[in-house]
Formats: sequence, C-alpha cells, structure tokens
Amino acid sequence: MAMKGCALVGVKAPEEASRSRCKRMIVYVEIDRCATDAISSVTGCKLGKRTMKFKDYGIMAATFVNLETGQAFRVSAKEEAKTLAFRYAPGIDDRHKRELEAYQVMPDEELFDIERVVVDVPLYDLPGRPRKKVQCHSCGEWIRDGREKRENGTLVCQICSGGAYFSRFREDDIPVAKRTQREPPSQVLWLDDAHNAMGEDLKPGIKMGKP
Ligand SMILES: [Zn+2]
Repeated sequence: MAMKGCALVGVKAPEEASRSRCKRMIVYVEIDRCATDAISSVTGCKLGKRTMKFKDYGIMAATFVNLETGQAFRVSAKEEAKTLAFRYAPGIDDRHKRELEAYQVMPDEELFDIERVVVDVPLYDLPGRPRKKVQCHSCGEWIRDGREKRENGTLVCQICSGGAYFSRFREDDIPVAKRTQREPPSQVLWLDDAHNAMGEDLKPGIKMGKP
C-alpha cells in the first residue's frame, strides 16, 4: 500500500519521503494496526515529524499527499484480497505466509481501491517548527499549533475545555492546580513572524489534491 501510494503521488519511497529536510509528503492513516507501522517504515513518514497523521476510522486505508504538487490519493485495502490470496498462493496453510506470498504477485486492482482526493492540510498541521504557542487561561499549560479552544473570551487547552481522554484521579492531587494562579493568562506567542499578520483565526491551510 505504501509503495503504491508513493508511486501515485510521485515520491520515491523511502529515499525522498523520509529525507528529514525534504518532508515532501504527508500520509494520513486510518487505522492503528500493523499496516500503519509498515507505511511509516516504507515512507519514512512519522508522527513525530508531523508527516504522518492518524485518523481513528478503523479502516485499512491511507491517503498519500505530495506537499509540493498537491496531488493526493487515498488507497484502501480490499477485504476480498484475503480470499483471493488462496488462488495466487495455493497450498500455503499459514494465513500470514499465504497472504504475504500472494500480495507480491496480485495486481493492484485486486488489492486496493484507489481514488484521487482533495485534502485540506491546515497550516498548523504542516511539518516544521510550531507556528504559535498559547498559554491556557485555566491550567497554564502551553498549547502549540493552534490546538487551543476559545471559551468565554479566553483561550483554554482541550483538557480544560472538557475534551480530555482522561479524568483526574483525585481533585486535590491535581499537580497543575498551582499553575491556575499564574499570571498573565492566555498568552499568545507567535513563533513564526510570517503568520503574525494573518491573525488568530489562522486556518487557510493548503488544499491538496486539486488537479
Ligand atoms: Zn488547560
């Protein structure tokens, strides 16, 4: 899937995609299974480089976006490929070995559904250093890359706005409690002067995938 995706958007994987200064490609993966690690390994795209984005759809699919040309293709694995593997690699009982063998020779159209797509990549999602840093008005944590929320005229982190994936064990154990007294609240640091003039509602991004 990764090789196909790279070929579709004209990136030679992994040499070009993984070159640290190159950052020519972003991959959106839609499942947190082994396929995601395989895509990362082949393309060199990683979460920490901001070249891999995880969308928790539970679908064995990925979208490959060439940041230079704007081309974007979504490649999804066909479920029927598992059944077809019997035909291409007969006599192999082990499912994993059978599929590995069969997928080497199966034509792309039997392995994947491929569609050209348009991806809006927000400016704050692009690789590179953080473009803005905001201090949460409530807890004092620093929030990077425009992930803050506006509530009652103040800027807060997603945890304080009620969107946390965890809950506090004990109210009086909250280590950040002292930080709530920090002044002044809701500082905004623009880290990239080029974006300063664009204001807080920075969201134009880059529309990828247009012909
Ligand atoms: Zn907060």
